[in-house]
Amino acid sequence: MPGLVIVGAQWGDEGKGKVVDLLAENADVVVRFQGGNNAGHTIVREGQEFKFHLIPSGILYPDKICAIGNGVVLDPGILLGEIDVLKRRGVDVGNLKVSANAHLIMPYHVLLDTAGEVKLGKLSIGTTRRGIGPCYADKALRLGIRVQDLLDEKILRTKIRAALEPKQQALRELSVRRRKLRREAGEEPGREGAGAIEDAPDPRLDLHTMTEEHVSFGHRLEPHIADTAHLCWEALDAGREVLFEGAQATLLDLDHGTYPFVTSSNPIAGAACVGAGIGPTDIDEVWGVAKAYATRVGAGPFPTELEDEVGRHMLERGHEFGTTTGRERRCGWMDLVALRYAVRLNRMSALTITKLDVLSGIDPLRVAVRYRSSEGAVFDEFPYHQSILHSAVPEYEELPGFEADLGACRSEADLPPQARAYLDYIADLAGVPIRLVGVGPDRDQVVWLGGEPGLKAA
Ligand code: GDP
Repeated sequence: MPGLVIVGAQWGDEGKGKVVDLLAENADVVVRFQGGNNAGHTIVREGQEFKFHLIPSGILYPDKICAIGNGVVLDPGILLGEIDVLKRRGVDVGNLKVSANAHLIMPYHVLLDTAGEVKLGKLSIGTTRRGIGPCYADKALRLGIRVQDLLDEKILRTKIRAALEPKQQALRELSVRRRKLRREAGEEPGREGAGAIEDAPDPRLDLHTMTEEHVSFGHRLEPHIADTAHLCWEALDAGREVLFEGAQATLLDLDHGTYPFVTSSNPIAGAACVGAGIGPTDIDEVWGVAKAYATRVGAGPFPTELEDEVGRHMLERGHEFGTTTGRERRCGWMDLVALRYAVRLNRMSALTITKLDVLSGIDPLRVAVRYRSSEGAVFDEFPYHQSILHSAVPEYEELPGFEADLGACRSEADLPPQARAYLDYIADLAGVPIRLVGVGPDRDQVVWLGGEPGLKAA
């Protein structure tokens, strides 16, 4: 029965939130399966803007179960903050379920993330510094703290102590570095106060304080803690629809993306099985979400990047600033070499193209169809070798642009012929049908291609 996975087909921020929000209408359960609170989803509903970093986009429907799966890492303070904001805005969060097996981002993870990035200097990955990478690292090291640990103070304290110990060296280095920075900034205390500040342990890392704080998080989260895999099975076995919501995107996948400039989890469709606790045959469809152009946040290869007025047009018209960080996104042409790779890797059954409206006024439009390496070799397929990708020069096809504002288009016939031709070209080279096109940020600013909206029937 219908299990549908939604994945980002590029480098993230494709507008997955809106697509999940639309498809959630037909689903009974919406579950996030990886990532942390570095995912930023923006949904505009009746003029109201909602930003989510952790909670699945389906939360705006009171009758849907909205789950944070075991594959997600979560900062309990941030999750409770999001719950509070939603409650204040009148959203019912009773159906929010959090996997007891999801791992917790602890204060030392956030500190280590920052320390790691500072240490890498120019080689830094551009993480959001929210502790997500160190949290996944602890999970693999079997030093992680899980949501269920919040419910038992004794276990929690023992596990925090065990996790803290091996980090003391790195955290000591961090504190030395912090003091050095403070001195350089002229904030060094006078002779008298120096000893006191240097010796004072960071209150964020105090075992007792951390345990107490997390026990109280546990009390507040308890009504939401559940066996989320079981919830998915129940729904799937009863023939109800389950939407698996990916965060970040294919080219940021830890194994298959542009390593090391990637996220610390697997955003590809296959990871929905691990991160939600379902089997591969529970997945009926995989929809990829891609922008009509391309963007990337942070460092790493981006062959079709534009540093000219067309890129500026995309940045400004597309409001390409990160939901979580506010960072300016790098913008460029649609890259069909990378998109074909994403289609195959996820075995997508359909594509959604968002933000087509942003391309109005750009003429001609260009799409990358192959790369050429610095030695002149031609790459029709996405190259696995990092050095080739870093120096790859894209070769483009030109297509006629369109002037019209697409914001009011609601059917295929409303789209200018050049826009339709652009979509046809993408679908043809990607090898999958485009089912949904975004023509503006609002929920109703979409064009469904080839039928009614929905899951199987879409
Ligand atoms: P996500 O993380 O993939 O959900 O993407 P974000 O939410 O970070 O970024 C998507 C942004 O684009 C949001 O501000 C959306 O409101 C907006 N958006 C989504 N679809 C469209 C569209 O078709 N056109 C325009 N102009 N904006 C869109």
